[in-house]
Order: sequence, then C-alpha cells, then structure tokens
Amino acid sequence: MTGRASPPADAGWRPRDCHAHSTFSDGALEPRDVVATARARGVRPSITDHLSGDVSLSVATVAQVRAYLGALESLAASDAPDLARGGEFCWHDALWRELPAELWDRFTHTVGSLHAVWLDDGTSLHAFQRRWPDGLTADAYMDSHVENLERFAVEMPVDVLAHPTLLPLALRKRPLEELWTEAREERAVRALAAAGVAFEVSNRYRPHERFVRRAVDAGVRLSLGSDGHTPEQVADVAWPLSVARALGVRDEDLYDPDAHGRRRHDR
Ligand SMILES: [Zn+2]
Ligand SMILES: [Zn+2]
Repeated sequence: MTGRASPPADAGWRPRDCHAHSTFSDGALEPRDVVATARARGVRPSITDHLSGDVSLSVATVAQVRAYLGALESLAASDAPDLARGGEFCWHDALWRELPAELWDRFTHTVGSLHAVWLDDGTSLHAFQRRWPDGLTADAYMDSHVENLERFAVEMPVDVLAHPTLLPLALRKRPLEELWTEAREERAVRALAAAGVAFEVSNRYRPHERFVRRAVDAGVRLSLGSDGHTPEQVADVAWPLSVARALGVRDEDLYDPDAHGRRRHDR
C-alpha cells in the first residue's frame, strides 16, 4: 500500500477502474502489477481479462475461467482486498452462455463487449477485421449494431457495456455523432436503462459527450474504464472521470461493485 503517488490518507473517495487487463489475457502487466499501478494512480483496481473463445491470448474455456477466478481470489486474499475481480465477455462468443452459475457468482462484476455483431444475413462483422462486406452500407451496419446492443442488454447477464462506441475499423474515421444518430443513441440508452446495465466511459474508445449525456438523462449508471493493457494505460481513468463530473454525475453514483453489486445474482 505504499507507492509514491498514493493519495493522502484523507483523500476519501477514489475512482474504480472497472475495466483493465493483465497477463491472464492480452495485458502487459502481471495481475499484482495491475493492482500496484492502480494504487499508484490513486485508483481502486479491477482485473477484467478477456474471457472468450474468440480473442487470442485469452481465458478461453470454463476450466480456465475457474482457474482465473481462483488466482484473482488468492491475490485479493493475500495482498489486494480492494481488487475487483471481473471479466470481459464477447457478446458474439459462446463462453458466457456456457458458464455455470457458481462461476458467475464469483465475479465482483462483469463487462460485456460488442467485439462483433450479427448481421441480417447471419454472418458476423468483427470490430477489428479489415474486410468490409460487399454491399453493406454504414447505415445498415449501424442499424444491426443497435439491434445487437438491444439483444445484448436483454440476454447477457453482465453489469457494464464496455466501450459502447467501439465500431468496426472501416468506420472509425467517421465522426461518432454521425454514425450514432440521436435515434440510435436513444434506442441504446433505453435498452441499457431497462436492463440496468451501466454505460462504460472508456478512456480507450472515447465516447462523444452527447451519448454519455443521453445515458445519464435516461438514468443509466456510468462506469469508468481504462481498458488498459500497458503500464501507461492501466487505471488511467482521469478523462472518463472528468466527463462524468462535467455532466453532474456524483462520484458515488459511478458504478462500483462494492457499492452497487451485481446486476443478476441468480441465473
Ligand atoms: Zn473490449
Ligand atoms: Zn478490454
């Protein structure tokens, strides 16, 4: 608990980074170094590695999830009682559907990601693939994206939608405000509000302010996420926190599993 940059003892509330990666998946830091890095920034740590059969360097099977949770629980018990023990599941991957309830119950929180979405023709389009399907317009893609988000909110028992504005590579040069029309934003925040899923303000895939404001206005809780994979990135939630505060969100209302628990306990 030392660390040169630790806040003073009377600092009170500290932000929670609800989304960070370690060497259990594609992060550069050992789990204990994720904790130390967060502490040095005055941030409460989480480890939320990729739990998916469709991410290289990830925790990819039910047995591996069990081992991952055991390792995080050991770390928390020995040296890091403030460590939140989460995971990042891919909407399009099957692992989260296969996970038994006893494993769901051991997470402090989980985040879900639309790393790929299903298109009308039954194929999927991955956010990191270079090829763009012939004949697919950006508008048609965005409509499918929002439909996937609505299904995600109903079906996936996670607490947070990670990086809500992550879109396929081919669209990333276009302004988010154009792709996310106000009507699409409205559908998205209504789906999250109805399901009680938090909206992550990601430091890595930064959302536009209008979308975050709409989420807040709809009663959706915000969650801070560095989505950090490196020492420079892990637990850097200064920008997401500044966005939330600028919108008038109280610090204590930001999603924290310690305070707000899990969305669904019994599946
Ligand atoms: Zn992600
Ligand atoms: Zn991530």
